[in-house]
Amino acid sequence: MHNAALHAVGLAGWRYQRLPVAPALFAETVRALPGAGFAGANVTIPHKLQALALADEATATARAIGAANTLTFAPDGAIAADNTDAPGLLAALGDLRPRSALILGAGGSGRAAAYALAQAGAAVAVWNRAPERARALAADLGVRAVAAPVPADVLVNCTSVGLADPSSTFKDLPLRADSVGEYACVVDLVYRAGGTVLAQEARRRGSQVVDGLEILVRQGALSFEGWTGRAAPLQVMRESAAR
Ligand code: NAP
Repeated sequence: MHNAALHAVGLAGWRYQRLPVAPALFAETVRALPGAGFAGANVTIPHKLQALALADEATATARAIGAANTLTFAPDGAIAADNTDAPGLLAALGDLRPRSALILGAGGSGRAAAYALAQAGAAVAVWNRAPERARALAADLGVRAVAAPVPADVLVNCTSVGLADPSSTFKDLPLRADSVGEYACVVDLVYRAGGTVLAQEARRRGSQVVDGLEILVRQGALSFEGWTGRAAPLQVMRESAAR
């Protein structure tokens, strides 16, 4: 997705590459990247907390969420941390500004979604399989933890349910297939070829659906713009991600 975008905007000498790093070597590896010619990095599980901790500066968004998914390197090697998962989610919602949101999941992406939607003015409720995690998130971000689903304008699945085993969707989430249509908009951060069971059921029952691929593209587009200073070619990124 990023290489297709770099090519499309004419940054011929740039390349996005995968760099597996052991947690114990994360800090020293990242500190060496600016000197090795890197402009920045995306950071994923399990490094998002360490990425925030080692940065020289961080956006208010990354600090509030407590995790960074994007690092940008200054010419002097200073490391700036951001979290584009939160604004990426809002960008994927387009003009929709929900008054209320139910978030399933209190992991890293649940925190980003809760922060984003609360900042956008929604009343946010969070459900999590381990309820103490939902309560901790709620206390940190000033939202509400719930023990069971509540009605809302938008439902956001921030659990990994549906990723490995599609048949687990309505067993592991506190939802029935025939109740999904009660949410005007359903966002599923999980993405898989052919779409997830949650997204399929929501679409079938008339909800607006934002799938995980669009979320992936939107957070990536914001990282891309931070590193390159160029507008991200969204459609190129969508088509590449879908492939
Ligand atoms: P995480 O921090 O590891 O959190 C995982 C969450 O899933 C926790 O809330 C966990 O609940 C819940 N969960 C796992 N198995 C479950 C089950 N069987 N039943 C109920 N809940 C279960 O992961 P994350 O970073 O938030 O990511 C979550 C998902 O979103 C992943 O599938 C990831 O691929 C996807 N994601 C997509 C994008 C995108 O751009 N589209 C971005 C970020 C993440 P407990 O606390 O009870 O364990």
